[in-house]
Amino acid sequence: MHIKQERRCVACRSAKQQNEMIRFAKINGNIVLDAKNNLGGRGAYVCRAKDCLALTIKKKLLNRAFKMNVDNSVYEKLLEYGENN
Ligand SMILES: [Zn+2]
Repeated sequence: MHIKQERRCVACRSAKQQNEMIRFAKINGNIVLDAKNNLGGRGAYVCRAKDCLALTIKKKLLNRAFKMNVDNSVYEKLLEYGENN
């Protein structure tokens, strides 16, 4: 199966350099913040922009990206990560 690596922000839909984005990966059915971009698996990206972080959390856009109910702790992690990096 061919998996196209789409590096587009789930909020603004723009494609940016990897270092401008935060990656999430689906590992064994769980969504995790892939801070080092080395986890593989199915991925989704969010820009390191406050607006995109806020919109992703507010609208739970990772649920849409991964087609599953993403745990709130993942969004909390994104918020925390976004504020500190
Ligand atoms: Zn964005």
